Amino acid sequence: MAEKFIPLADHRQLHDIPVIPSRLETPDGLLADALSRPLHDLRISVTDKCNFRCVYCMPKEVFDKSHVFLPHSSLLTFEEIARIARIFIAHGVHKIRLTGGEPLLRKHLDKLIAMLAEMRTLSGEPLDLTLTTNGSLLARQAQALKDAGLKRVTVSLDAIEESTFRRMNDVDFPVAEVLRGIDEAHRVGLGPIKINMVVKGGMNDHQILPMARHFKGSPFILRFIEYMDVGASNGWKLDEVVPSSEVVRRISEEMPLVPLDPNYSGETAERWRYVDGGGEVGVISSVTQAFCRDCSRMRLSTEGKLYTCLFAAGGHDLKALMRQGRSDAEISTAVAHIWRKRTDRYSELRSQATEGLTGVPKVEMSYIGG
Ligand code: SF4
Repeated sequence: MAEKFIPLADHRQLHDIPVIPSRLETPDGLLADALSRPLHDLRISVTDKCNFRCVYCMPKEVFDKSHVFLPHSSLLTFEEIARIARIFIAHGVHKIRLTGGEPLLRKHLDKLIAMLAEMRTLSGEPLDLTLTTNGSLLARQAQALKDAGLKRVTVSLDAIEESTFRRMNDVDFPVAEVLRGIDEAHRVGLGPIKINMVVKGGMNDHQILPMARHFKGSPFILRFIEYMDVGASNGWKLDEVVPSSEVVRRISEEMPLVPLDPNYSGETAERWRYVDGGGEVGVISSVTQAFCRDCSRMRLSTEGKLYTCLFAAGGHDLKALMRQGRSDAEISTAVAHIWRKRTDRYSELRSQATEGLTGVPKVEMSYIGG
């Protein structure tokens, strides 16, 4: 039998303990990185576990029964996550997205949401507090999430056809249960709800039109995402990317679309509206039109490592600082230092290279969230 290689196990080791500059700073909410990008978004992974085995994210061959997930003692506690969130808000963050793995697998997640929902941005507003889920547990949890203070959800759904969806999640999970979760989230007021479909050529691109037809005229915003070379375990190939321009062309042929202005500058999704008033769809061109120049996101892994890019190889260990007893001022100064040095623009460099950058170690998406 061929020897199995589990890249995640290696990449989890790549981290440093941030240096704390001797002069501590007071955050002013105006942090900018080396390419003048502000820090506005924080994505927090609350678990590395998922009950799906999507072929582009946690393929079964790699994440099988022998895969060792993080022990509970390695995970950040809710108090530690809340402490980091407060530090980031002082630096100008106003949007927090909870991710996983599958975030709804983290026990008592509503307690964390309640803690975050109480926080206020520098301008005194509640956070834009959201969550990305595979939808499998949403019907059961939507009301509790809403009651805790969650504003909205994004649901990943890669096909509307039963056989394709089951093949993609690779655990035989039925599409109807995800749709039930979406409807329940809508019923309790977790909106606007976005539906994200990762399009992988030859795997689910025949689902572009059925998905568009299904969600046209609904209150939900369907978004098509180009399949990315995230992590090291999905065997990404450039010719499996279906460009957003092709997605728009295919839909428009049957259901004409016209472009819409972005909601705000730097929005990752390009918006399109049905000419007949059937709502809108979005396309996220992570590969063919990289948007690094507007990237204002940091990612916090389940075990407290900070990543400045989805494609970063190594993280900065904030949990170590917290468990060493460092003060908020020290951690805040370390975060500022990390952001100021940030030069990441992997997707732009990939576009320039036209091929996936090979030989570069990358962290797995299931570890830091998409
Ligand atoms: S590749 Fe990195 S820097 Fe570019 S948009 Fe994605 S996360 Fe941001």
